[in-house]
Amino acid sequence: MYDASIKWISGPVLRAQTNKPFHLNEAVSVGEARLLGEVIRIDGDEAVVQVYEDTTGLRPGDPVMATGAELSVKLGPGLLGNIFDGLLRPLDRSERFVSPGSREEAQGKTRKYSFRPMLKPGDEAKRGVVFGSVHRDDARVQRCLTPPDCDGRVESIVPAGEYTDEEVVCVLDCHGSKRELTMSHLWPIRQPRPIKSRMPVKGPLFTGQRILDSIFPIGCGSRAAMPGGFGTGKTVLQETLAKWCDADVIIYVGCGERGNEMASVLHEFPMLEDPRTGRPLMERTVIIANTSNMPVAAREASIYTAVTVGEYFRDQGLRVALMADSTSRWAEALREISGRLGELPGEAGYPAYLGSRQADFYERAAHVYTQSGAVGSLTVIGAVSPPSADFSEPVTTNTKRYVRCFWGLDAELAQARFYPAIHPLQSYSRDIEALQHFWSQHGHPTWNSQRQRFLSLLEDQARLERMARIIGKDALPPSQQHILLCAELINEAFLRQSAFSEVDRYCSAERQSEMMKMITRFIESSRAVIELGVSLETISALPVMRRLMRMGEEIGEGDTEKFDDLRNELDAAFSSLRDEAKQEAVSDES
Ligand code: ADP
Repeated sequence: MYDASIKWISGPVLRAQTNKPFHLNEAVSVGEARLLGEVIRIDGDEAVVQVYEDTTGLRPGDPVMATGAELSVKLGPGLLGNIFDGLLRPLDRSERFVSPGSREEAQGKTRKYSFRPMLKPGDEAKRGVVFGSVHRDDARVQRCLTPPDCDGRVESIVPAGEYTDEEVVCVLDCHGSKRELTMSHLWPIRQPRPIKSRMPVKGPLFTGQRILDSIFPIGCGSRAAMPGGFGTGKTVLQETLAKWCDADVIIYVGCGERGNEMASVLHEFPMLEDPRTGRPLMERTVIIANTSNMPVAAREASIYTAVTVGEYFRDQGLRVALMADSTSRWAEALREISGRLGELPGEAGYPAYLGSRQADFYERAAHVYTQSGAVGSLTVIGAVSPPSADFSEPVTTNTKRYVRCFWGLDAELAQARFYPAIHPLQSYSRDIEALQHFWSQHGHPTWNSQRQRFLSLLEDQARLERMARIIGKDALPPSQQHILLCAELINEAFLRQSAFSEVDRYCSAERQSEMMKMITRFIESSRAVIELGVSLETISALPVMRRLMRMGEEIGEGDTEKFDDLRNELDAAFSSLRDEAKQEAVSDES
C-alpha cells in the first residue's frame, strides 16, 4: 500500500489521503516519476504537498511516498564552479534541464577529489570541526566539516588520496554509535545551520563601487536590498558585485528571472575572469538557476537552498556573499501557492506570512563564530523588482524592515544613463558606525563627516533645483549656485561609475578616499573664493574643473601620484583666484 495517494491536485499543490503519519516539511516522492515534493500542511489524515517539479500528467490515485527526512541538500566539495537548479541538482550545461524525479546529487558519483585528513584516530571531533580538506585544481581548497549534529571521537580516517564523494573517509564514534562520514553531508534547507555565536558587523564587504563603499556601505554578514524597476541596472549591479566584491565565495541565485536573462548569466559567468587572480570567476561561484517557467514551488525552495549553501561555506570560515535576483519573483511564487491553497490573501494578494518568510531568509545573513571557532560571514544582497517601480508595494516595504542597507535604483537616473542608478536620497545604510574603523585604517578618519557632507549637499541640490525651476537658476544667490556646482561634481566625479569602463569599473579604498578628499578640498577652496567675491562662472571655467570631473576615468588604480598633481593644480588655481580677488579688493578700496 502507498504511504498516501493523491486526492486533489492544482498545479504545484496537491492534497493526499495518508495511510500513515507524515510530518511537516517532510520530503516526499510523488507519482511514478518520483517527483520531489514537500509536506506543507497536515489536516487530519490529509497532507498538503507542494511539488517542486512539473506536475503535468499526475492524477488522483497516484502514489505519494514518504522519505522520513526533511527536504535536504547535499553539501560538499563539488559545489563550487557549478550550476544547479533550485534543489541543488546539477543543470546540464547544454540543455539546462534536470530530468523529472532526478535525485542526482550535486557532486556526481564518479568524480574523485583529492582528500587530506586533518584529524587522526583518537582525536576528539566536536560538531562542525574540520576533519579534512579537499584540493581541486579548478577551485579553492575546501574544508570537510563534521555534520553540525554530531559530537564524537575519530575512530578511523583514510590516508591522503583520491576518493569519490560516495566513499566513507572518516568514521566517528559518537558516544557508542558509529557515524560514517563522506566528504559531503545532507542538511535540511529550511533549518539554519547552527553556529557558536553571532557577532556584530565589523568590516565591510568591499565592492569597489564608490556609491556603495563610501556612501552606503554594507558590512560583512549584513543584508541589503536593491529595489528597482525594469532596466534600472539590477542585473548589471549584481554581476558587478559578484565580480568585484572581496568575498571568498559567491552564491548567485537567479530566482524566477526570465529565461533569456538567466541564459546570459549562465553563458557569461563561466567566461568571466576573476579580476584579482586572473582565474575563472566560476572557481569561487555557485550558481542556482530557476527561470520563470520552472515550477513556482522550486523557486521558493531555491532561496532556501542558496542560503543553506551560503551557510555551509560560511561554516568553513569563509566570507560568503549571496546575491538573489529577484526576491519579488519568490514572493510571487508564495502568492501563487497560497492562492491555490485557498488561503486568505493579505495585502496585494500576498499571503499574510510574506513578511515572516522574508525575515527567515534575511535573518540567515550573519557574521559568526562557527562551531569550530573560525570566523565566517554570509552577506545577503537581494534584488527586488517592484511592479511599476513602486517602492510602497508589500515586498519592498517588508524587505525594508529586515535589511540594513537599502540601495534604491531610480528609473530617472537610469533613463539619463547615470549608473549605478542608486538614488542617493532614497537609499541608506545602517552599517556606518561599524565601518568607520575600516576607513580610518585606510587613511581616511574623516570619512563619515565627509560622507554626511556629500549627502547634505545632494539634499540641498534637490531642494534648490525645485526652486530654480520656478525662479530660474541665475536668480539664486552665489552661495546656492555654489551648492549646485559642488553637488554636480559629487554626482559626476564620484557617484557615477560605469561598470563597463576598463579604468573605473573597480575603485579601491585608497582611490575612493583620495577622490573624496579631493572633492572636499574643492568644496572648501571654492567656497572661500566665492566669499571673496569670485564669480561662479570663473570657477566653472577653470581647466582643473574638467580634470576633477573626469578623475575617475583619468586616474587609474596605482596612479596615486596623479592625485598629487591634481591636488597641486587645484591649489594653484585657487591660490591665484584668491590673489586676484584680494588685489581687486585693494584696488577697489583705493
Ligand atoms: P534590470 O536588471 O534592472 O532590468 P539591467 O541590469 O539589465 O537592468 O540594466 C539595463 C542596462 O543598463 C544595461 O544593459 C546597461 O547598458 C545599463 N547599465 C546598468 N547598470 C550599469 C552600470 N553600472 N554601468 C554601466 N551601464 C549600466
